Amino acid sequence: MKKIQDLPPIFQSAIPILEKLSDAGYEAYFVGGSIRDLLLKRHIHDIDIASSAYPEEVKQLFPKTIDTGIKHGTVTVLDHCESYEITTFRTESGYQDFRRPDHVTFVRSLKEDLKRRDFTVNALAMDTQGSIVDLFNGLGDLQSKLIKAVGDPLERFHEDALRMMRAVRFMSQLQFDLDEQTKAAIEELHDLLPKISIERIRDEFVKMGTGPNSRRAFQVFLDTKLSEGVPHFKGKSELLAVYPQLKFEPNMESSLWAVIIILLKLPNDQIAKFMHDWKNSNIMTGKVEKIVELFDLLSDRSPTDYELFQAGKETLLNTIDVAQILGQPVNSEALVDRYVALPIKSSAELAVDGRFLIAAGIKPGPKLGQLLVQIKQKVIAGELENNAEAINAFIK
Ligand code: ATP
Ligand code: MG
Repeated sequence: MKKIQDLPPIFQSAIPILEKLSDAGYEAYFVGGSIRDLLLKRHIHDIDIASSAYPEEVKQLFPKTIDTGIKHGTVTVLDHCESYEITTFRTESGYQDFRRPDHVTFVRSLKEDLKRRDFTVNALAMDTQGSIVDLFNGLGDLQSKLIKAVGDPLERFHEDALRMMRAVRFMSQLQFDLDEQTKAAIEELHDLLPKISIERIRDEFVKMGTGPNSRRAFQVFLDTKLSEGVPHFKGKSELLAVYPQLKFEPNMESSLWAVIIILLKLPNDQIAKFMHDWKNSNIMTGKVEKIVELFDLLSDRSPTDYELFQAGKETLLNTIDVAQILGQPVNSEALVDRYVALPIKSSAELAVDGRFLIAAGIKPGPKLGQLLVQIKQKVIAGELENNAEAINAFIK
């Protein structure tokens, strides 16, 4: 049995919780992604605890708990300002609608709990001594860098079609290959994906797209036709086939969406609809629109100083990132130098405002707004100094 020496602090600090459960006669293990990430020496962002104790039993043992997802067996234990999620061993059944089980049944067996998990590398457990429980050769698949469904992949994707997206997401994030049988099952069942809510598909898509192996994962996403079941991708596989050939992997969400929109050759007035159909926020939509707009401009000509000012630093840097991912030549250093040299970077830095102009005798109204823009443009072009005196003289 594989045993980990010297558990990292994130596990250490939870050991008293697991010990309290085992002292009371229950089983308790660390489970899921944190074990996988520990073995791969990846950053561990949170740990999950699974136990044979039923939710009510967990609540009796610990003084401070929150019913986080009690119907699904999850109770949060608060201890010394830390919180720990404990989920009762469970099996799932039903899956009438190809997503989420109709019922979960609490069980006392770890094996049953591990069996319902998606991939072998996600079905590992570890006890407080660091001993790994590996019932489905997850360790072997970690070694061979393989994403492989637990049990019969056809059955598993039938139960929950989101797992097909999770397969390509983990391929990208972990830089793993996809087991052949698992891939064949996705090819067969890809058309179940639209049963899943767009939000959940989007979360997995973004993790795939911003992972370190997104180009290879994207190829599988296209080959298996999963891509045909997501908003705006149907019939677009020829345009999207460029993605696996990109120069670099996107590592920011906004860059990912901008790259996809550019590859799809989406007209500007359809970007917002595309983003909203993917259930993206207005903030993300606005960011992406600005990036694509500046990208188009840069593909055509050099921007004016005023256009650089209007784009702003974040959009400029993101657009340079997108151009590099797409292998589009841009003189990024010169652009950044020009941006840095702008006399003002935001309207707030202008030495005057509307109130100043009114005090200088300009009547409130559209004319005043236009004058303010004119002043801003002159300052940015270096034709007018950014101080009240110079601007006053210009108004007069
Ligand atoms: P991440 O680093 O993204 O959090 P993770 O492996 O922890 O990766 P989660 O989505 O947090 O992924 O899920 C935690 C665990 O729950 C998984 O490792 C897996 O064992 C199980 N799991 C999650 N979603 C599913 C699913 N749709 N079907 C089966 N098992 C799942
Ligand atoms: Mg997790």
